[in-house]
Amino acid sequence: MKLKEVIQKARPLAEPFRVSDGSKFRLKHVDPGDTLQLKSEDKPLAKEALAIGVQALTTLQDMLYAQDRWAVLLIFQAMDAAGKDGAIKHVMSGVNPQGCQVFSFKSPTSEDLDHDYLWRCMKCLPERGRIGIFNRSYYEEMLVVRVHPEFLKAQKLPPELISKKIWDNRAKDIRNFEHYLARNGVVVRKFFLHLSKAEQQKRFLARLDDPDKKWKFSTNDAKERGYWDDYMNAYEEMIRNTATDYAPWYVVPADNKWFTRVVVASAVIDALSSLNLAYPKVDKAKQKELDAVRHALMVSNDHLGAG
Ligand code: ATP
Ligand code: MG
Repeated sequence: MKLKEVIQKARPLAEPFRVSDGSKFRLKHVDPGDTLQLKSEDKPLAKEALAIGVQALTTLQDMLYAQDRWAVLLIFQAMDAAGKDGAIKHVMSGVNPQGCQVFSFKSPTSEDLDHDYLWRCMKCLPERGRIGIFNRSYYEEMLVVRVHPEFLKAQKLPPELISKKIWDNRAKDIRNFEHYLARNGVVVRKFFLHLSKAEQQKRFLARLDDPDKKWKFSTNDAKERGYWDDYMNAYEEMIRNTATDYAPWYVVPADNKWFTRVVVASAVIDALSSLNLAYPKVDKAKQKELDAVRHALMVSNDHLGAG
């Protein structure tokens, strides 16, 4: 399939889940089990589409790297077992590792806590020509930190700076930060993999039963599940307050992994294809240089294998 065709097919798969104006957003309007009009019999077809999408991404990333102007930042947020790791692994599987970097953000270290909360993320921003992936991000500052006020207390902020407005202020700062990135050629796309509580239970139980997956289970994950409603409220507020046209959220149904991956791949293809990427053109002077090198190589070819 031609690149142009893949790009055309990708857009309608990602578009329904894109939120670029949060004012009317409600989480309850997105069904975690949604697969658009695709049925589970279409799973092999979806897998094929993903493979084609991954190939297209490889080409687009190659151009992104060669052009060396734009950087792309993909942010992934989700409840545990929603499939962040799998989505990142599958969607980026064809991408040249030299042009892509993944950073996972866990509980902050004491060094992190000695700085403002964006500090540790800023150090990991992608260079021009690269795709950077944040597996969790500064958005945890409006999620886990909001759900567990003790984390906010541990942040060593001057007490007079902690008020009820802190979450609105964080949203405002993040919006401004992402606008700054957009104005500097960093394309930001954010993914919330929206899993249902019932599907999370199923996946946790499957992990406990599978000897190869047991290691992935942490008792803390089960504890966090107890705060499900608080998390959903925090996610909704986060999306309402930080979805913008320059840094949209994709709220991706996550109960079916095969569907999640197709939507994520489509959104990334859509983002890259909006950049009008092209391989740098060789000017006349450079072409002359290349012709001379070709000539020299042809001449020296005579000696090849001579000793
Ligand atoms: P996986 O479980 O697939 O390995 P993960 O992203 O869940 O991936 P964990 O090590 O299980 O990784 O969890 C990281 C934890 O760190 C999460 O519970 C997250 O909420 C927490 N975390 C991330 N950022 C912050 C933060 N700024 N403050 C407090 N906790 C944070
Ligand atoms: Mg985890």
